[in-house]
Amino acid sequence: MHAGHITAEAITAEVIPELCKSCGKCAEVCPYNAISVDVKAKQPAKITTAACSGCGTCAAECPFGAITTHHFTDPQITQQIDALLEDRPGDKILTFACNWCSYAGADYAGVSRLQYPPNARLIRTMCSGRVADSFIWHAFRKGAPVILVSGCHIGDCHYIDANHWTEKRIGKVRAKMEKRGIRPERLQLEWISAAEGVRFAEVMTRMEALRQSVTPAEIAATVAALEKKTAAAG
Ligand code: SF4
Ligand code: SF4
Repeated sequence: MHAGHITAEAITAEVIPELCKSCGKCAEVCPYNAISVDVKAKQPAKITTAACSGCGTCAAECPFGAITTHHFTDPQITQQIDALLEDRPGDKILTFACNWCSYAGADYAGVSRLQYPPNARLIRTMCSGRVADSFIWHAFRKGAPVILVSGCHIGDCHYIDANHWTEKRIGKVRAKMEKRGIRPERLQLEWISAAEGVRFAEVMTRMEALRQSVTPAEIAATVAALEKKTAAAG
Protein backbone atom coordinates (compact mmCIF):
# COMPACT_ATOMS: atom_id res chain seq x y z
CA MET A 1 0.00 0.00 0.00
CA HIS A 2 2.93 2.35 0.76
CA ALA A 3 4.19 1.77 -2.79
CA GLY A 4 0.87 3.00 -4.09
CA HIS A 5 0.26 -0.15 -6.09
CA ILE A 6 -0.05 -3.90 -5.61
CA THR A 7 1.03 -6.72 -7.90
CA ALA A 8 -2.00 -8.72 -8.97
CA GLU A 9 -2.04 -12.37 -10.01
CA ALA A 10 -2.73 -13.08 -13.68
CA ILE A 11 -4.45 -16.32 -12.65
CA THR A 12 -7.61 -15.30 -10.86
CA ALA A 13 -11.13 -16.61 -10.49
CA GLU A 14 -14.21 -15.06 -12.06
CA VAL A 15 -17.87 -15.60 -11.26
CA ILE A 16 -20.36 -16.31 -14.05
CA PRO A 17 -23.27 -14.36 -12.49
CA GLU A 18 -26.05 -16.04 -14.48
CA LEU A 19 -25.06 -19.47 -13.11
CA CYS A 20 -24.55 -18.40 -9.48
CA LYS A 21 -27.22 -19.53 -6.99
CA SER A 22 -25.78 -17.48 -4.10
CA CYS A 23 -25.17 -20.58 -1.98
CA GLY A 24 -22.06 -19.11 -0.32
CA LYS A 25 -19.84 -22.18 -0.67
CA CYS A 26 -17.11 -20.32 -2.57
CA ALA A 27 -16.81 -17.68 0.15
CA GLU A 28 -16.54 -20.44 2.77
CA VAL A 29 -13.58 -22.14 1.08
CA CYS A 30 -11.54 -19.13 -0.12
CA PRO A 31 -8.34 -18.99 1.96
CA TYR A 32 -7.97 -15.25 1.23
CA ASN A 33 -11.51 -14.08 2.03
CA ALA A 34 -11.57 -12.75 -1.50
CA ILE A 35 -15.22 -13.65 -2.12
CA SER A 36 -18.36 -12.07 -0.74
CA VAL A 37 -21.86 -13.43 -1.23
CA ASP A 38 -25.08 -11.86 0.00
CA VAL A 39 -26.92 -15.12 0.58
CA LYS A 40 -30.10 -13.47 1.97
CA ALA A 41 -30.42 -11.03 -0.92
CA LYS A 42 -29.61 -13.85 -3.37
CA GLN A 43 -27.01 -11.71 -5.12
CA PRO A 44 -24.32 -13.42 -7.21
CA ALA A 45 -20.93 -13.92 -5.55
CA LYS A 46 -18.37 -11.17 -6.00
CA ILE A 47 -14.61 -11.75 -6.16
CA THR A 48 -12.16 -9.05 -5.13
CA THR A 49 -9.63 -9.75 -7.86
CA ALA A 50 -6.79 -7.96 -6.07
CA ALA A 51 -7.17 -10.36 -3.13
CA CYS A 52 -7.48 -13.53 -5.25
CA SER A 53 -4.34 -15.65 -5.48
CA GLY A 54 -5.74 -18.06 -8.06
CA CYS A 55 -5.74 -21.34 -6.16
CA GLY A 56 -8.96 -22.40 -7.90
CA THR A 57 -10.56 -23.95 -4.83
CA CYS A 58 -13.72 -21.88 -5.27
CA ALA A 59 -14.10 -23.11 -8.85
CA ALA A 60 -13.63 -26.73 -7.72
CA GLU A 61 -16.16 -26.41 -4.89
CA CYS A 62 -18.91 -24.41 -6.63
CA PRO A 63 -21.77 -26.92 -7.06
CA PHE A 64 -23.15 -25.02 -10.05
CA GLY A 65 -20.06 -24.47 -12.20
CA ALA A 66 -20.46 -20.74 -11.69
CA ILE A 67 -16.77 -19.91 -11.26
CA THR A 68 -14.00 -20.13 -13.78
CA THR A 69 -10.25 -19.80 -13.13
CA HIS A 70 -8.34 -17.96 -15.84
CA HIS A 71 -5.78 -20.20 -17.59
CA PHE A 72 -7.09 -23.26 -15.69
CA THR A 73 -10.68 -23.43 -16.87
CA ASP A 74 -12.77 -26.60 -16.67
CA PRO A 75 -12.65 -27.16 -20.47
CA GLN A 76 -8.86 -26.67 -20.52
CA ILE A 77 -8.31 -29.28 -17.82
CA THR A 78 -10.92 -31.67 -19.22
CA GLN A 79 -9.29 -31.50 -22.65
CA GLN A 80 -5.93 -32.39 -21.11
CA ILE A 81 -7.54 -35.44 -19.50
CA ASP A 82 -9.04 -36.42 -22.86
CA ALA A 83 -5.70 -36.03 -24.63
CA LEU A 84 -3.75 -38.03 -22.06
CA LEU A 85 -6.29 -40.86 -22.02
CA GLU A 86 -7.01 -40.90 -25.75
CA ASP A 87 -4.72 -43.84 -26.52
CA ARG A 88 -4.58 -46.98 -24.33
CA PRO A 89 -5.98 -45.27 -21.20
CA GLY A 90 -5.61 -48.49 -19.18
CA ASP A 91 -1.81 -48.14 -19.41
CA LYS A 92 -1.65 -44.66 -17.87
CA ILE A 93 -1.18 -43.30 -14.37
CA LEU A 94 -3.17 -40.05 -14.50
CA THR A 95 -1.67 -37.59 -12.03
CA PHE A 96 -2.77 -34.14 -10.95
CA ALA A 97 0.22 -32.26 -9.56
CA CYS A 98 0.21 -28.83 -7.93
CA ASN A 99 2.52 -26.23 -9.41
CA TRP A 100 4.50 -25.38 -6.29
CA CYS A 101 5.22 -28.75 -4.70
CA SER A 102 4.36 -31.95 -6.54
CA TYR A 103 5.03 -30.78 -10.09
CA ALA A 104 8.36 -29.39 -8.87
CA GLY A 105 8.96 -32.72 -7.07
CA ALA A 106 8.43 -34.52 -10.37
CA ASP A 107 10.90 -32.15 -12.01
CA TYR A 108 13.40 -32.84 -9.26
CA ALA A 109 13.01 -36.58 -9.74
CA GLY A 110 13.71 -36.00 -13.44
CA VAL A 111 16.83 -33.86 -13.05
CA SER A 112 18.10 -36.30 -10.38
CA ARG A 113 17.70 -39.06 -12.99
CA LEU A 114 15.59 -41.14 -10.65
CA GLN A 115 13.81 -44.11 -12.16
CA TYR A 116 10.02 -44.03 -12.08
CA PRO A 117 7.36 -45.57 -14.32
CA PRO A 118 7.37 -43.92 -17.76
CA ASN A 119 3.58 -44.20 -18.07
CA ALA A 120 2.92 -41.44 -15.49
CA ARG A 121 0.98 -38.59 -17.13
CA LEU A 122 0.89 -35.26 -15.28
CA ILE A 123 -1.65 -32.47 -15.37
CA ARG A 124 -0.43 -29.32 -13.63
CA THR A 125 -2.81 -27.19 -11.60
CA MET A 126 -1.74 -24.24 -9.46
CA CYS A 127 -3.10 -25.94 -6.32
CA SER A 128 -4.45 -29.41 -5.56
CA GLY A 129 -7.53 -27.46 -4.42
CA ARG A 130 -8.33 -26.86 -8.11
CA VAL A 131 -8.88 -30.58 -8.77
CA ALA A 132 -12.67 -30.70 -8.94
CA ASP A 133 -14.48 -33.97 -8.38
CA SER A 134 -15.85 -33.62 -11.92
CA PHE A 135 -12.31 -34.06 -13.31
CA ILE A 136 -11.91 -37.31 -11.40
CA TRP A 137 -15.25 -38.71 -12.57
CA HIS A 138 -14.47 -37.63 -16.12
CA ALA A 139 -11.11 -39.41 -16.05
CA PHE A 140 -12.64 -42.64 -14.70
CA ARG A 141 -15.34 -42.39 -17.37
CA LYS A 142 -12.58 -42.11 -19.97
CA GLY A 143 -11.03 -45.37 -18.74
CA ALA A 144 -8.39 -44.25 -16.24
CA PRO A 145 -7.36 -47.27 -14.14
CA VAL A 146 -5.92 -45.15 -11.32
CA ILE A 147 -5.74 -41.46 -10.48
CA LEU A 148 -3.27 -39.66 -8.24
CA VAL A 149 -3.97 -36.22 -6.81
CA SER A 150 -0.84 -34.69 -5.32
CA GLY A 151 -0.06 -31.43 -3.60
CA CYS A 152 1.93 -29.64 -0.92
CA HIS A 153 2.08 -31.17 2.53
CA ILE A 154 -0.59 -30.05 4.99
CA GLY A 155 0.75 -26.88 6.63
CA ASP A 156 2.92 -26.07 3.59
CA CYS A 157 0.19 -25.15 1.10
CA HIS A 158 1.21 -22.21 -1.10
CA TYR A 159 -2.38 -20.99 -0.70
CA ILE A 160 -2.57 -20.99 3.12
CA ASP A 161 -4.79 -24.04 3.70
CA ALA A 162 -6.49 -24.72 0.37
CA ASN A 163 -5.24 -28.32 0.42
CA HIS A 164 -7.51 -29.04 3.41
CA TRP A 165 -10.37 -28.74 0.93
CA THR A 166 -8.57 -31.15 -1.40
CA GLU A 167 -8.39 -33.70 1.39
CA LYS A 168 -12.08 -33.33 2.23
CA ARG A 169 -13.09 -33.54 -1.42
CA ILE A 170 -11.04 -36.66 -2.12
CA GLY A 171 -12.58 -38.31 0.97
CA LYS A 172 -16.07 -37.56 -0.38
CA VAL A 173 -15.24 -38.87 -3.87
CA ARG A 174 -13.79 -42.08 -2.43
CA ALA A 175 -16.96 -42.61 -0.36
CA LYS A 176 -19.04 -42.18 -3.53
CA MET A 177 -16.76 -44.57 -5.42
CA GLU A 178 -17.42 -47.23 -2.81
CA LYS A 179 -21.19 -46.71 -3.10
CA ARG A 180 -20.92 -47.03 -6.90
CA GLY A 181 -18.96 -50.27 -6.67
CA ILE A 182 -15.63 -48.71 -7.68
CA ARG A 183 -12.56 -49.60 -5.59
CA PRO A 184 -11.73 -46.39 -3.66
CA GLU A 185 -8.00 -47.27 -3.67
CA ARG A 186 -7.96 -46.44 -7.35
CA LEU A 187 -7.99 -42.77 -6.30
CA GLN A 188 -4.94 -41.80 -4.28
CA LEU A 189 -3.98 -38.56 -2.55
CA GLU A 190 -0.32 -37.90 -1.75
CA TRP A 191 1.55 -34.89 -0.41
CA ILE A 192 4.88 -34.45 -2.23
CA SER A 193 7.10 -31.39 -1.73
CA ALA A 194 9.39 -29.79 -4.30
CA ALA A 195 12.40 -31.32 -2.50
CA GLU A 196 10.96 -34.84 -2.48
CA GLY A 197 12.05 -36.21 -5.84
CA VAL A 198 12.74 -39.57 -4.25
CA ARG A 199 9.28 -39.63 -2.72
CA PHE A 200 7.73 -38.73 -6.08
CA ALA A 201 9.50 -41.69 -7.69
CA GLU A 202 8.41 -44.01 -4.84
CA VAL A 203 4.78 -42.88 -5.06
CA MET A 204 4.79 -43.42 -8.81
CA THR A 205 6.22 -46.91 -8.39
CA ARG A 206 3.41 -47.71 -5.93
CA MET A 207 0.85 -46.22 -8.34
CA GLU A 208 2.17 -48.48 -11.10
CA ALA A 209 1.73 -51.57 -8.88
CA LEU A 210 -1.81 -50.38 -8.14
CA ARG A 211 -2.48 -49.80 -11.85
CA GLN A 212 -1.38 -53.33 -12.66
CA SER A 213 -3.91 -54.65 -10.12
CA VAL A 214 -6.80 -53.04 -12.03
CA THR A 215 -8.14 -55.42 -14.66
CA PRO A 216 -9.63 -54.39 -18.02
CA ALA A 217 -12.96 -55.85 -16.82
CA GLU A 218 -12.84 -53.62 -13.74
CA ILE A 219 -12.18 -50.55 -15.89
CA ALA A 220 -15.00 -51.50 -18.28
CA ALA A 221 -17.42 -51.96 -15.35
CA THR A 222 -16.48 -48.52 -13.99
CA VAL A 223 -16.95 -46.85 -17.37
CA ALA A 224 -20.35 -48.56 -17.81
CA ALA A 225 -21.52 -47.60 -14.29
CA LEU A 226 -20.51 -43.96 -14.74
CA GLU A 227 -21.99 -43.69 -18.21
CA LYS A 228 -25.25 -45.16 -16.92
CA LYS A 229 -25.27 -42.55 -14.17
CA THR A 230 -24.59 -39.74 -16.66
CA ALA A 231 -27.41 -40.98 -18.90
CA ALA A 232 -29.81 -41.18 -15.92
CA ALA A 233 -28.91 -37.61 -14.94
CA GLY A 234 -29.94 -36.57 -18.46
S1 SF4 B 1 -20.32 -21.48 -4.80
FE1 SF4 B 1 -21.00 -21.01 -6.90
S2 SF4 B 1 -23.25 -20.87 -6.77
FE2 SF4 B 1 -22.44 -20.74 -4.66
S3 SF4 B 1 -22.22 -18.52 -4.30
FE3 SF4 B 1 -20.24 -19.23 -5.06
S4 SF4 B 1 -20.33 -18.90 -7.28
FE4 SF4 B 1 -22.42 -18.77 -6.51
S1 SF4 C 1 -10.63 -19.61 -3.58
FE1 SF4 C 1 -8.62 -19.21 -4.58
S2 SF4 C 1 -9.17 -18.78 -6.76
FE2 SF4 C 1 -11.06 -18.58 -5.55
S3 SF4 C 1 -11.19 -16.39 -5.05
FE3 SF4 C 1 -10.14 -17.39 -3.33
S4 SF4 C 1 -7.97 -17.19 -3.80
FE4 SF4 C 1 -9.09 -16.78 -5.70
